[in-house]
Amino acid sequence: MTQPRPAGQHTVRRHNSALVLGAIADSPGISRAGVAARTGLTKATVSSLVDRAIVAGLVVDGEPAHREGPGRRGTALTLSPAGPHGLGVEIGVDYIATCLVDLTGRVSRQRIRPADNRAQPANRVLVKVARAIRSVFSELPVVVGGIGVAVPGLVENSTGLLRTAPNLGWRDVDIPAELRDRAALADIPVLAGNEANFAALGEMWSGEHPELRDFIHVSAEIGIGAGIVMDGTLFEGVRGFGGEIGHLSVDAKGPQCSCGARGCLEAVAGQDAILAQSGVSDVPALVARLESGDRKALTAVRPVARYLGTALSNVVNLLDVPTIVLGGTYAALGPWLQEPLQEELTLRVVSAAWSPITILQSTLGTEAAIRGAATSAVRAIIADPDPFITATVPG
Ligand SMILES: [Zn+2]
Repeated sequence: MTQPRPAGQHTVRRHNSALVLGAIADSPGISRAGVAARTGLTKATVSSLVDRAIVAGLVVDGEPAHREGPGRRGTALTLSPAGPHGLGVEIGVDYIATCLVDLTGRVSRQRIRPADNRAQPANRVLVKVARAIRSVFSELPVVVGGIGVAVPGLVENSTGLLRTAPNLGWRDVDIPAELRDRAALADIPVLAGNEANFAALGEMWSGEHPELRDFIHVSAEIGIGAGIVMDGTLFEGVRGFGGEIGHLSVDAKGPQCSCGARGCLEAVAGQDAILAQSGVSDVPALVARLESGDRKALTAVRPVARYLGTALSNVVNLLDVPTIVLGGTYAALGPWLQEPLQEELTLRVVSAAWSPITILQSTLGTEAAIRGAATSAVRAIIADPDPFITATVPG
């Protein structure tokens, strides 16, 4: 075991730079004195760190916000929209998406490319993903400071390996390493993660529901996954494999699932099952049928609410989470799922009589995962800005 050693000057500055950027991110428009008060650093230290961050292009010193005592004008510090960006990449079963987000959280470029990735070998799809990343680099003159990659499968947190993605047919793929080679990413940090987890984070950070801190975000597309957030923190299980609500059994004798088992939620209430039952080809067409009161479409959606309610009530009984956010396809079907789902939860959740479950629809819908992936990359830059600062301002 290594003995702890005293922090050197550079380690201290790295830590303090993160404190300063975190304060500016939390309170855009804050003054240097305000940063000092929030962080406990001296005003001299804050001034020196802020000046370095300004020269490095991470922070902007804006118009004076207000006068702070006689003579001294407080200026308004904000993170710079021209600073390093986070790039989100989503490898879907039937699309590849990219999204750039700047340090202030603004989306500057988002693109979805339809692609039939089902049953394609990983290397063939990753060539296309690398091409999508390189096209982002070539189109926009911004520094990409980190990449988050959302994938529809189990990502092991200790190794970063995608262990299995049943709907893609992939096993044991090192996505960061593969993309680093193919897209010539040099030393840009790449983080792969489960799309349902990124979707939950995306909805919490960038969605429009205020004060979303304890919730389960269920995202349904071809697969179904859940992101579990408690006290504002993602709970992904011990190894990162948690939240696989799509493979909870809701009908022991039900149809075969892509995972090999029978009667999983995904096999009876996933997008493929819903479309097959309703006899339409895509979700917008299904929504149009539902809006027109089409009986076959309405009949197809009813058991979805029942199966989803069965699975979710198991989760709520186990974890005691008060809010459910319907994402992806379920967000689009929300108006027809809400009431029967609420009935199912009221029936099955033991605590529901005195603590009713709140059901919300995602405000980001199918964009939640890509936004979460991009914003994760941005938050990683804010949490450790020193490499970007020392690259521009040595010493
Ligand atoms: Zn399954």
